This record gives sequence, C-alpha cells and structure tokens, in this order.
Amino acid sequence: MSRSFDVVVIGAGPAGYIAAIRASQHGMTVACIDEWQNRDGKNAFGGTCLNAGCIPSKALLESSELYHRAGHEFGKHGISANEVSMDIAKMQKRKASIVRQLTGGIAGLFKAAKVEGLTGHGKLLGGRKVEFTPSDGKVEVLDARYVILATGSTPIELKIAKFDGDRIVDSWGALDFDAVPETLGVVGAGVIGLELGSVWNRLGSKVVILEAMDDFLFMADRQLAKEAHKHLKGQGLDIRLGAAVTAAKVSGKKVKVDYKDKDGEQALEVDKLVVAVGRRPFTEGLFADDAGVQTDERGFIVVDEECRTGVKNVFAIGDCVRGPMLAHKGSEEGVMAADLIAGEVAEVNYGVIPSVIYTSPEIAWVGKTEEEVKASGTAYKTGSFPFAASGRAKAMEQTDGMVKIVSAQDDDEILGVHIIGPMAGELISEMVLAMEFQASTEDIQRTVHAHPSLAEAIHEAALAVDNRALNYPNK
Ligand code: FAD
Ligand code: NAD
Repeated sequence: MSRSFDVVVIGAGPAGYIAAIRASQHGMTVACIDEWQNRDGKNAFGGTCLNAGCIPSKALLESSELYHRAGHEFGKHGISANEVSMDIAKMQKRKASIVRQLTGGIAGLFKAAKVEGLTGHGKLLGGRKVEFTPSDGKVEVLDARYVILATGSTPIELKIAKFDGDRIVDSWGALDFDAVPETLGVVGAGVIGLELGSVWNRLGSKVVILEAMDDFLFMADRQLAKEAHKHLKGQGLDIRLGAAVTAAKVSGKKVKVDYKDKDGEQALEVDKLVVAVGRRPFTEGLFADDAGVQTDERGFIVVDEECRTGVKNVFAIGDCVRGPMLAHKGSEEGVMAADLIAGEVAEVNYGVIPSVIYTSPEIAWVGKTEEEVKASGTAYKTGSFPFAASGRAKAMEQTDGMVKIVSAQDDDEILGVHIIGPMAGELISEMVLAMEFQASTEDIQRTVHAHPSLAEAIHEAALAVDNRALNYPNK
C-alpha cells in the first residue's frame, strides 16, 4: 500500500523546508523530498542557500573581510598586525563546518516536527501523486492531499563559456577554490559577481568583472549604485561596464576571454573565470506528462499571487516561480502556502521584500527607488544622511556610505529606503518593518534611536526628508 501524506513538498531549500515545518505545525502529516548531493557525495537538506549559496558565501565574506581589515585598518586603531596571513584551507574548513551544522540542523528540525525527510528525486504525477526515487532506486508512489513544488534554481550556463568545473566555474565552484587565483575574471557584475569578486579580491586576486550592461547595478537606486561603484572600484575591483563576453576558452592553465565594449574587441587572460550571469528555475524531471502544471517561456512554474499553480491543491514557491530569487522570499512563500492549505488567510507582501548585497560597505534596500517613484508620477521628497557624520560609524572606522529615504509628498508614507554602509543588511530591517506597517517619515522621526548607533543614521535621514536633520546641515 502506498504511503499517504497531507502535504508532500518537493525540494528542501529555504522555501521547501520552511513550508514543510509550517505545515507540520498545523498538525498535518508532511513528507519533504530532496535530492541535493554535496561534492563529498553526501546528501544534505537546505538546497542552494545552505549548501552553495547564502551561507557559504557569507562565511567567506566574513573571513576575507577580517583578513582585509587586519591588514588595512588595524593600524589605525594602534594594533600592529604586520604578519597577517591567510590559511585558505582553514578558511574553507570553517565554511564547510558552518554548512554542515546548519544543514544537519534541518534534519533535526524535521525530526522534531515529525516531517518525513526523504532523500531522493521527487516527480509530480497526475492526481496529486508523487513518485519518489531514493538513491537505492526503489521507486515509491506517495499519495498527497496537497503538493508544494520548491525545486529552486540553477546557474545559467553560457554557450560561449561552458563550465569545466576547474577553470571556468559557477558560483559553487568559486566558493570552493582551494587557493587564491592570481587573476580572476567574473562574468556579470550582479549580486554574485560583486560578493564573490569581493571575497577573492580581498584575499589577493586581481579581479576583473565584465558586465554587459552600461549601468552598474541597474535594479538599484541610481544614487546608491553610484556610491557602491565608487567604493568597490576604490577597493581594486576592476569593473568593466558595457562589456559583452563573446568567447571564453581554457588554454593550458589560463582562460582566454574575448569581449566587446564601446572601444571594440578586447581580450583578457585569467587563471579562473566565474560565470555569474543569473540563475534559471530548475524543474528538470519534475513533471510527468499528465502533471498539468504550466511553465512560462523562461521555465518558471506559473503561479498566482498565492503561489497556486492552477492544478488543484498544487502550489509552487521559491526560486522556481516568479519574483526575486531570494531565500527569505521563498521562505515566506512557504509559510503562506502552508497557512493557506490549513485554511488560514495568508499573503506575502511582495512590495516590501528587502535586498541585501553583502559587499563592504553592504548595500541594502526595500521598496521603490527614487527613479521608480519619479516615473510613477507620485510627488515625493527625499532625505539622506552620510555615515561620515555618524559617531558610531566613526568609532567603527567604517564611515563610507549613506542612508536615503524616499517618501510621498502628500501623506508622508515611506516609499523606499536605500542604504549603503556598515551593517546595511541589518539596518534595513527597521525600515522593512516600518513599511510593512505603512509608517510615515514622521513615525521614524519620532522614534527614539539608541545613541551612539548606526541606526541613528536612519533617524537623521528621516529628519532630513523634512529638512530637520539635527546632526548634519539640511539641503
Ligand atoms: P533551492 O535553495 O535551490 O532548493 C531547491 C532544492 O530542491 C535543492 O536542494 C534541490 O536539490 C531540490 N530539488 C530540485 N528538484 C528536485 C526534485 N525533482 N526532487 C527532489 N529534490 C529536488 N539569497 C538570499 O536571500 N540571500 C543571500 O545572501 C543569498 N546568497 C546567495 C549566494 C549564492 C552564491 C547563490 C548561488 C545564491 C544566493 N542566494 C541568496 C539565493 C538563494 O540561495 C536562493 O534564492 C534560495 O536558495 C532559493 O530557495 P529555494 O528553496 O527556492 O531553492
Ligand atoms: P544577477 O541577475 O544578480 O546578475 C547577473 C548579471 O550578469 C547582470 O548584471 C547581467 O546584466 C549580467 N550579465 C548577463 N549576461 C551577461 C553576459 N553575457 N556578459 C556579461 N554580463 C552579463 O545574477 P547572479 O549574480 O548570478 O545571482 C543570481 C541570483 O542569486 C540573483 O537573482 C540573486 O538574487 C541571488 N543572489 C542573492 C544574493 C543576496 O541576496 N545577497 C547573493 C547572491 C545571489
């Protein structure tokens, strides 16, 4: 007899595993199937985020940042650190240990929540049946009242620069280098290109980033992007805009890269090349012919605002559906899907999803850019405050960047917040919460912020919106 569950989730990344746990909190019987295999051949829950994305990249960003600061900043504090060196193997071991702890933690959470964690491949059949193929190949068909598809995404491969797993690599490969490449090329100045480019640049690589677009960080507020460009260039990242890669070939121990920019054909030779030109939804082998789920022309599973696929009781969440490819977006969709299945009212506020780029300084934003507000025709006002005028930032020796707030002229509602500076990824949460509650600029102005804190820069930016900044000259 086949096993049956209230909910079967396919994919245990941050979208799927959170959906599974929330569904179990509603008292439902849940199975969560995942086929992720790490390079050591071991299976692990957590998907891209925990195994090859958010977590390992942040571990390396932290290690490389400390190394860089020890060499470049400690002296200013009076600390002598002349013999600073980096043990790459140890750095990678620390990263692997963090990943192991967190992915093992999901197995523990599944156990505690009585979620049946199944290792292997899941395939949606017709009639909400799910075919489960474990690594030993003994196929089982599970019955499900509800199915949640959470199969995530995978790096886009360029035909003209195919991954070879050694010299031309994807982001996972770039997280696993066992030595600092003397020269590193990166295709794409997106989030991955900037974060991983920063890691290896800080550790000593000569990094060249080739970006096809003429605009730097086209999705960000222009003022923020300009400021980010200035600081990242200042750190030695050679960011070449309007540079379209036409070919990349491995030649001995080098990669020869051809690209075109406004001055014509260019060539570059590097030791390693990271291709980070975006990710595509992953649905290979997911659907039987009669599954009935639709995908769009880019391969995303088609869903409505509530993540319903159109096939009765089948939801899809996370990177395999429309919207930003962010872990927290996927997790909130997982919570929504499970709550809806339990008959509760639930929604995701897609207008208030924060974006963070973990460079130094960090870059974070929520809501609309000034350009988007302007284009919408809404009358608006802005205020900003530089970290150079923040006492806490000065004490931290991290004064690069600023906070900028865009608010509606008529009712004072906050429409967008753009931060570049120390701990921007943490600071943005205050304003995500404020926007979730449709706060006005005045609400922030009248909120007591601890002194001295980085958050005071948000307070001052809010005051500056109405020309009332107290610690910086007004416009
Ligand atoms: P995934 O995490 O991709 O998980 C999907 C899971 O489903 C995988 O384990 C996969 O093996 C499994 N699967 C797929 N098909 C099947 C099947 N048929 N049967 C069984 N299992 C299947 N986002 C952030 O918000 N913050 C960050 O700092 C951040 N940093 C990143 C850094 C890097 C280098 C990368 C690559 C990504 C980063 N992201 C970050 C993006 C983030 O990793 C993704 O948005 C997130 O992992 C998506 O979650 P998901 O659950 O939808 O998919
Ligand atoms: P991205 O979409 O952020 O950036 C890709 C960049 O590559 C773009 O700027 C694009 O113009 C450029 N590009 C595309 N084709 C090109 C070509 N042929 N030559 C040169 N440049 C080209 O994608 P990504 O950096 O690969 O990241 C993938 C996803 O992972 C993103 O959606 C992001 O949300 C997620 N991610 C998030 C974080 C974070 O939240 N901190 C970190 C890493 C990744």
